[in-house]
Amino acid sequence: MKNVYILGECMVELSRTGDGLLKQSYAGDVYNTAVYLKRAFDDFNVNFFTAVGEDSLSDDMVAAFAAEGINTDMVQRSKDKAPGLYMISVDSEGERSFSYWRSDSAARQIMQFVSAENVGYLCMGDLFFFSGISLAVISPNERDIFWQLLRKLKDSGVRIAFDPNYRARMWEDKTEAKIQFERAFRLSDMVLPGIDDLSQLYGFTEFNKIQDFCSAFGIEELVVKNGPDSVCCIREGEFHEVAITPVEQVVDTTSAGDSFNGVYLGARMSGIAVVDAVKLAAAAAGEVIQHPGAIAPKDAFEQTIRP
Ligand code: ADP
Repeated sequence: MKNVYILGECMVELSRTGDGLLKQSYAGDVYNTAVYLKRAFDDFNVNFFTAVGEDSLSDDMVAAFAAEGINTDMVQRSKDKAPGLYMISVDSEGERSFSYWRSDSAARQIMQFVSAENVGYLCMGDLFFFSGISLAVISPNERDIFWQLLRKLKDSGVRIAFDPNYRARMWEDKTEAKIQFERAFRLSDMVLPGIDDLSQLYGFTEFNKIQDFCSAFGIEELVVKNGPDSVCCIREGEFHEVAITPVEQVVDTTSAGDSFNGVYLGARMSGIAVVDAVKLAAAAAGEVIQHPGAIAPKDAFEQTIRP
């Protein structure tokens, strides 16, 4: 059984349903990835390394992880913090915007739970996945703990996968984000950026430029997502471009990249070749964006993954 560890934050999601009512669910980039990885590859042990509070909302959140089959042994409990929260608003044009209450969330304390025991578990993993959002959530004065951990995982032979998922508002400035991301690139075996992330941060709009830039970091597998345009990958010098069939009725693109990542990583860890893994991941993401919210209904997703 493959053992995957995913580091980051899950938040309470609130969205309007009309009549002033709010629908409550749970989402967050790497949590979404964990959900889709587990749904597509049920035989994997998918562990979520995060922190929540001791409140009942945190209990419900952890129950939701377990209901998705995610292993909660590495979910830590902060004594004085609660989960972060975000709310989705839709304007009269149908444009979505997000308001966040996450600056003091329990997940920000996650590095305080990096004990010798937990490091021991993480080192036994086959894969460790984190994102630029996971990095931004870690308190700046605790980032050294993270980099020491990542070095240890690398030295223990755990495969490291990273999606930059750049969110400008979570960083002091671009320089801070670039410094952190470039440390991540250097230690990662697999890097899965969206082209938007790298164009906002570095101004790259073409795969060639990204490839040139990334060649300095010794990344084994680079997979660049570009919405309905093709996915470009380079693995140990071998280039692949995989065409995407655009979805006609896009409902909500939240989690497109996250679901792609979950299925892609599961497929690659199962020994599926790069091009086939991209096709499977793209089919999953294409289904997810035809449903509202980050987490699509299980049935629809399963039909796509196992037709
Ligand atoms: P992110 O959500 O990280 O910005 P992208 O927008 O690049 O990521 O989307 C990730 C993946 O989702 C794409 O590589 C593609 O497989 C799928 N996808 C996104 N938008 C569409 C679309 N309009 N039609 C079909 N597939 C899409």
